[in-house]
Amino acid sequence: MENKNSMNILALTLEQLIHTLETVYGKGRFHGRALYREIFKNANSDFLFVPEFAASQVLARDLEKNICLEPGRVKMVFQDRDLTKFITRLSDGMEIESVIVPMNRYNTLCVSSQVGCRMGCTFCETGRMGLQRNLTISEITGQLYNARHVLKKQIKNIVFMGMGEPFDNFSPVMAAVKIMNEQKGFDIALRHMTISTAGVVPGIRKLAAMNLPGIRLAVSVNAPDNPTRSQLMPVNNAWPLEMLKETLAAFPLPRKGTFLFEYILIKGVNDTKAHAENLAEFIHPLPVRLNLIPCNPVPGFTHESPSDADMNRFSQHLVGKNIFVIRRWSKGRSVSAGCGQLGRR
Ligand code: SF4
Repeated sequence: MENKNSMNILALTLEQLIHTLETVYGKGRFHGRALYREIFKNANSDFLFVPEFAASQVLARDLEKNICLEPGRVKMVFQDRDLTKFITRLSDGMEIESVIVPMNRYNTLCVSSQVGCRMGCTFCETGRMGLQRNLTISEITGQLYNARHVLKKQIKNIVFMGMGEPFDNFSPVMAAVKIMNEQKGFDIALRHMTISTAGVVPGIRKLAAMNLPGIRLAVSVNAPDNPTRSQLMPVNNAWPLEMLKETLAAFPLPRKGTFLFEYILIKGVNDTKAHAENLAEFIHPLPVRLNLIPCNPVPGFTHESPSDADMNRFSQHLVGKNIFVIRRWSKGRSVSAGCGQLGRR
């Protein structure tokens, strides 16, 4: 029988936890803070020896019984040099993938927001799975818990670029953002979190209305004209490029803030000089940093990856139009952790 006092701790902000402690146990902020710190920062659910509980041993025992801490079980870990991909098995047996990408002095965790995805981008392995289901709040925050406390990685950045379209699971994703941001807990600054969308305009508008200071928005663009983009990303039929640009222009960026645009370069599809020029025109005057990514091999998507020379040429056209380009070497190909490859077995 389900315990009516059970608390799914990974789905709670500190204030929500304190409120529950007050209503269920008649205790408040003092114990709430200690409990939050022990679970999120120290991965310790043995409260009997925590100083704040020294005079409240009954409460400590009750909490140990009633706290539900289920980040999912890390089932497999793959390593490609310093990049790590891990598979988490969820309580219903479904599996999700997350990737830890080393940066200069810290790691970025790429989290999933759904099992599968219904956006159907043709170059993407996750899209091929279709949408199996949305992740719950704790299944999203659980990926960070596992990366930190099971795999022992220092994580400073979060990017919602794993399996799924974050704006197709809006409320749990935004609740997870708040929990990851809690200073007494995971303590990831909003400016170190990026939500990446295929261009789901209502989601961008809802995020804009929340006015979360500093949170970053990435948009998977991949083509500068509607026919090519619709062919690669069916989402473009619902929200074409003009609407996307208009929505971005109204987005409340912080001073000197930029959007991150992703452009997967696909040989023979979106890689000509004309594509680069049209892309520069689409971007202007939005403040954008453009991630240029070579397309990864995916079964069923027959286009070959561009060569270094192709990448250089395309990048140079954009730089000539004053676009800030970051060239990404698709890390993690050998473990299928590159862009568009998650969900592959
Ligand atoms: S690229 Fe992103 S939005 Fe498109 S199908 Fe893959 S996971 Fe979904």
